[in-house]
Amino acid sequence: MFIYQTIRINTMKEISEKEFSDEVLNSGRVVLDFFSTECPPCEALASKFEDLSKIYGSDIKFLKIYRQQNRELAEKMGVKSSPTLLFFKDGKEIGERLTGGVKRSDIIHNLDLMLPDERQQEIKAQIKPSVSEFDVIILGAGPGGLTAGLYLCQSKVNTVLVDIALPGGQVSTTHEVSNYPGFIEPQAGYLLSHNMSEQTKMCGTVYKFAVDITKVDLVNKEIVIDEYETIRAKKIVIATGTTPNTTGASGEKALKGKGISYCATCDAKYFDNKEVVVIGGGNSAVEESDFISRFASKVTIVHQFDKFTANKKAQEKIFSNPKMNIIFNSEPRSFDKDGDKMVTEVENLIDGKRIKLVSDGVFIFIGMRPNIELFKDKLELDQWGYIKSDEDMRTSISDIYAIGDVISKKYRQITTAVADGTIAAMAIAKELN
Ligand SMILES: Cc1cc2nc3c(=O)[nH]c(=O)nc-3n(C[C@H](O)[C@H](O)[C@H](O)COP(=O)(O)OP(=O)(O)OC[C@H]3O[C@@H](n4cnc5c(N)ncnc54)[C@H](O)[C@@H]3O)c2cc1C
Repeated sequence: MFIYQTIRINTMKEISEKEFSDEVLNSGRVVLDFFSTECPPCEALASKFEDLSKIYGSDIKFLKIYRQQNRELAEKMGVKSSPTLLFFKDGKEIGERLTGGVKRSDIIHNLDLMLPDERQQEIKAQIKPSVSEFDVIILGAGPGGLTAGLYLCQSKVNTVLVDIALPGGQVSTTHEVSNYPGFIEPQAGYLLSHNMSEQTKMCGTVYKFAVDITKVDLVNKEIVIDEYETIRAKKIVIATGTTPNTTGASGEKALKGKGISYCATCDAKYFDNKEVVVIGGGNSAVEESDFISRFASKVTIVHQFDKFTANKKAQEKIFSNPKMNIIFNSEPRSFDKDGDKMVTEVENLIDGKRIKLVSDGVFIFIGMRPNIELFKDKLELDQWGYIKSDEDMRTSISDIYAIGDVISKKYRQITTAVADGTIAAMAIAKELN
């Protein structure tokens, strides 16, 4: 499918820790991929690594090392997850280590750091854009997109699933899912999303993950990923979900990831025996506060109304949890850092008085907004910016469908996203046949 011009073939090599010194430390320019088996992000990286080795391979050595069999070296190098990409010039590590859902643009950035400007331009000039054609492009691989991919694949519709991150969507960062039918015990979110993704992949749907989407043309049914790869289709399904809202209080943007988090599953574990502030009072805020309290010694919830809007069962748990401190009728006005501590300034909405809450970290759960940046001007939206779709999930543009949390609807759950994906796929398969 790719038609990049090949400068050198077989530019990639697998090494063991015995060869590390010769192949990496005593070499010129090297990129080294610590990979593992049964590792979806490693699989997502593999094709990008191979493609780039064909483009940059005459200037930079592309090496892979199997992490499980070379544990001692991985530990010595401080490599804690797979894949991890390390870049070396004349035996010294340079650039940024890349891990998780590694993007092609980030690898290119680090490779370019090793080369003079002129050579970078020469190499880029040799890259030939590629074009591929499918029946359907699905944008977003959360439960909605994965389900649509599964149904389309099982209907023999040639489908590509494209995501700016790794597959799984919000479920992959939800600590536990207890309301997805078919499982008696609560399921770890990452496992449920992993199983959904594997099922769709095994059917044969083509995956393009951790990519930069540089253009979406809904009218001509065409997208461009990583600047060089154009994908055309007869139909597009938008399943891009939502992103957490921000409070707008000063300091929030600067402290994101440096004291402020939007994901309890990802970060609660770092607050063992520590004090945490949670902003919000809906289902997510209340359920995630309960989860955070498994680690933290104290959780202060700041909510703008005089009662929570979360479901009753979740509220009962919170009110009977001795680690909880609840501040109603209040909103955060600023976030600041004082050494290692987070300082949250909170205003009481009734009397206007402000207090400062000192904690070890802040979690914000105040709702979501639809991910429609790339196509918002073209589609009919509701007053909150969600995409309007009909009962077959068709949008206002012909052959463009939208499903899951990104559409205008009352209830946003895994089951409803899965249902939308099913409906869109069945409608599309029927039309294409
Ligand atoms: C903390 C939390 C806990 C939850 N717990 C539960 C629960 O217990 N039970 C339940 O049923 N529901 C739960 N939900 C809701 C549930 O996760 C969502 O309803 C569901 O994931 C929606 O699926 P989706 O496929 O529409 O979107 P998402 O899961 O949001 O997936 C969207 C995908 O699109 C990708 N994407 C974004 N922008 C683009 C773009 N421009 N191009 C391509 N791809 C893009 C994203 O990377 C993502 O992978 C929870 C949500 C949260 C936040």
